Amino acid sequence: MKPSFHTRLLNGPFEDPGLYIRLLWEGRALMFDLGHTNSLSPRDILKITDIFVSHTHVDHFIGFDNVLRISLKKEGPLRLYGPEGFIDHVEGKLRGYTWNLTKEYPLVINVYEVTEGYIEHAVFKAGNRFRREPMDKRPSNGILLHDSFCKVSVRILDHQIPCLAFSLEEECHININKEMLTNMGLPVGSWLSELKEAIRGNKFNAVITVEGRALSFSDLRAVVDISHGQKLSYVVDALGSEENIKKTVELVKGSDLLYIETYFLESDKEKAMERYHLTAREAGRIARAAGVGRMEPLHFSLRYSDDPEALLREAEEEFRK
Ligand SMILES: [Zn+2]
Ligand SMILES: [Zn+2]
Repeated sequence: MKPSFHTRLLNGPFEDPGLYIRLLWEGRALMFDLGHTNSLSPRDILKITDIFVSHTHVDHFIGFDNVLRISLKKEGPLRLYGPEGFIDHVEGKLRGYTWNLTKEYPLVINVYEVTEGYIEHAVFKAGNRFRREPMDKRPSNGILLHDSFCKVSVRILDHQIPCLAFSLEEECHININKEMLTNMGLPVGSWLSELKEAIRGNKFNAVITVEGRALSFSDLRAVVDISHGQKLSYVVDALGSEENIKKTVELVKGSDLLYIETYFLESDKEKAMERYHLTAREAGRIARAAGVGRMEPLHFSLRYSDDPEALLREAEEEFRK
């Protein structure tokens, strides 16, 4: 199966975390966390539509300024999601600069603050000197983004402060059978995106026009292989409490790929508890309990800079148990 999510960790495991996810066929990208973003090209940054920030400890949010700088001339939407207090934090960043000459810039930043019961929305527009404009507050159903292509779900974990964990799921995975296209004498073209869109929207009575021929879904059924969509999850900075572990397992269940912090070794459990982080063994346990396909450990404490393998080994051993 050709993956629809193309992922790239922006920094090494001892550096600040940031995961860039290009949505193939969609021409856009998402991000989980905003550690240093300097390795992204302006082109990469302009593709980003949605940024999910686990929490605003500096190592997870320091890359915001660079994204802001490049996005000033961005026409399309930019949405940011974060935990309790997030709108204040974004506002604080924006207030750090002077905005008298940016009135003509099109950038509009939508910020969503996620708490147990509600999602609060505020807007900051370049045209309005990035002054905070409060919008609506709606009850939260644990889903932050849901369109015809994918869905992002969230759980709030305990990191002494609320910290968000995320799951990204593709609605369904559609592969085009090129051989069948050739056999049926059909050209490659934008009608294929139309067909995919119709399938994702369950519009099976849609009629698709291909070079003047009106074709129904049943005419075209043979050119598509439809399978279960991909799921990937991102979990960082959480205390290894039973409650956090249970919530995380529920969220990441069945993920094809799980990015998860392995900040401490189990032998430093006391430190892990003081700092509200997972140990590598706990990360492995979550991955195993959730039946994930593959686990990608990240976010290592510098105390293991001489032996990062120890973290990987501990997590992997617990995962494969
Ligand atoms: Zn943190
Ligand atoms: Zn952190």
